[in-house]
Parts: sequence; structure tokens; C-alpha cells
Amino acid sequence: MGDIIEKVKCLIIGSGPAGYTAAIYAARANMSPVLYQGMQPGGQLTTTNEVENFPGYPNGITGPEMMIELQQQAQRFDADIRDGWVTKVDFSGDVHKVWVNDTKEIHCETVIISTGATAKYLGLDSEQKYLKLGGGVSACAVCDGFFYRNQEVVIVGAGDSACEEAHYLSKLCKKVTMIVRRDEFRASKIMSERVKKTPNIEILFNTETDEVLGDGQVVTGVRVFNNQTNEKHEIPATGFFVAIGHKPNTDIFKDYLNLDATGYILNKPGTSKTNVDGVFVSGDAADHVYRQAVTAAGTGCMAALDAERYLAAKDSNFEVSTSTYN
Ligand code: NDP
Repeated sequence: MGDIIEKVKCLIIGSGPAGYTAAIYAARANMSPVLYQGMQPGGQLTTTNEVENFPGYPNGITGPEMMIELQQQAQRFDADIRDGWVTKVDFSGDVHKVWVNDTKEIHCETVIISTGATAKYLGLDSEQKYLKLGGGVSACAVCDGFFYRNQEVVIVGAGDSACEEAHYLSKLCKKVTMIVRRDEFRASKIMSERVKKTPNIEILFNTETDEVLGDGQVVTGVRVFNNQTNEKHEIPATGFFVAIGHKPNTDIFKDYLNLDATGYILNKPGTSKTNVDGVFVSGDAADHVYRQAVTAAGTGCMAALDAERYLAAKDSNFEVSTSTYN
């Protein structure tokens, strides 16, 4: 007698807006999707306070509330939403094998990857404290910049994202101070020139963050130091933005899927298809450019439609059941 192996027509890995949207579409297409939520059910948005830019919420909604609503919408069509962490995959055969919590084995006809990406933070205790309190630390200027209108903010980083976000913030905020740890940008010339030319962006080179300052509830400033002179000074600010890169959550797929140098899954342009037939990707696991809830939801829809068409083309009669293999 062997282990119980479950057969699934459509397995969705990850529970942000991409995964839940894929589940809504797959469930409505009678694909009986099973979705594993992962370590952070709801994904990155559960660390966001207020979401004001997702269409359909005129009064805004908190990230966690929105994720609960998306989950409920998927469950309304009988999507099977489960706790569990996918720890291993084997995409070498016709049937895609997935292991949950290192034990449960699932054989899938299609897999939709929606594992997202994780924003990198500096790791300072004070940064993490105000991040958890929702008190002024953010890794997404487009999501949270609006809350700092006419205020002074600090942003850390020197890549294209930091420049783009600093420029975005400069249009909303009174002043943006950019903290750059080296004496030059990593960003492309056009992006770095743009921030250099923006009058209300001050750039501090050779500068690092010593401490995020606050009153116990919200951020009130940032203490920085010059790494050449060790001189410290404080910058008044109500927002502390971190733009030092993201890490896509794709390690378990690297032996089977084509990834770029940072680890983002490479999809076939204009589709959610990966290099493996029957394996699709949606959301931030493949997107280092837009990274928005609404674009993740859009690609979740694409992945479910691509999976449905793949199954139809195969004339699938894959039995959805729990069965025992030898
Ligand atoms: P990058 O990896 O390109 O840049 C990260 C930046 O953060 C670097 O400047 C790095 O400094 C800095 N950094 C890293 N760790 C720390 C730390 N502990 N303290 C202080 N600073 C730190 O990430 P991005 O997110 O900017 O970009 C990712 C990719 O996406 C890139 O390929 C980029 O070109 C692309 N992109 C393109 C856009 C566009 O074309 N419109 C927009 C956004 C991103 P250092 O330079 O010293 O290593």
C-alpha cells in the first residue's frame, strides 16, 4: 500500500490577488481549483494598511480585508482554499508533482504559480517596529505615497525602483530625502538624472540609516550617518520608504522553470505560460516592473484562462479525485 496521492486538475500556489483571482476564474470554469495559501495567507497586501487604488473600492479598503473578500469570492464558487506551504515540485513529467509541507504529494494537470515576491527591508529593529505598527514604514510608494501628501519623507535605495518611487513621491510630498549608501546610483542614467533634477528631492550619498525615529506610534524622523565621516544627523520625516529590491518567491521552481538573474519567472510574452507546458505564472513572481494588486489580479485571470485553454486543447479527461498509488 503506497501513500495517498491526490490528483488535482488545477493547483494554485499562493494567496495574494493573483492567486485568488486565478481561483475565481478557474472555479467558474469548472476546473475544481485547489489553492494553497502559503506562509503569509493574503500575501504582501496583508502588510498594507489602506488600499485606495484597487478599482471598485471607492472608499478604500484595508489590505487584509480585501484579501478576505477575494478569498470569500473564490470560495463562493467552491474553490478549495487550504492552509499549507508548497515545499517541493517536480515538473519533469507530464503530470506535475507538488509536495505540501514536505509530506503530502499532489499530482496536477495544471499548476498556477502565484507565490509573489518579498520586499527587502534594512532589518533595523526600529524599521520593523513601525512597519508592524503601520506607523509610517512602507516598501511601496505607489501604494502608500498618497498618505504623505504635503509631508516630508525619506526613501532608501539607489536602483531604478528607488528613483522611480522618489520621483513619484516628489509629486505628492513637500520634500523627499534619498539615502544612497554609495557615492553613485545603481539606477539607469535617465532615472538618476530625473531625480537629480527634481527640486524637492535631496540626495544624500555615502549615507546609511542608523535608526528610524518615532513617538512609539508613528515615524517622526530618521537618523542617518555618513559612512565616510561617521557623522550622524536627523532628518524630520513622517514616512520612511524602503526601495532596496524585492526577492521573488521562486526558489523551489529554479530546477524546472526559466528564471531571470534575480529569480523572476520568465513568461512567454503576452501570456502566463512558462517554459513547462501546463505550468503558468501570475503576479509578482514574474513581474518586477508593475507589482500592483490590480496587475497581479489581471495576470491571475490570464493564468486561469491559459490553463483552461491548455486543458481544452488536451481534451482533458483527467480524473479529479483522491486515489491511492502503489
Ligand atoms: P536593484 O537591485 O536594482 O537596486 C537595489 C538598490 O538598493 C541598490 O541601489 C542597492 O545599493 C540598494 N540597497 C540594497 N541593499 C541595501 C541596504 N541594505 N541599504 C541601503 N541600500 C541598499 O533593485 P530595484 O528594485 O531598483 O530594481 C530591480 C530591477 O527592476 C532592476 O533590473 C531594475 O532595472 C528594474 N526596474 C526597472 C524599472 C523601469 O525600467 N522603469 C523600474 C523599477 C525597476 P547598491 O547600488 O549600493 O548595491
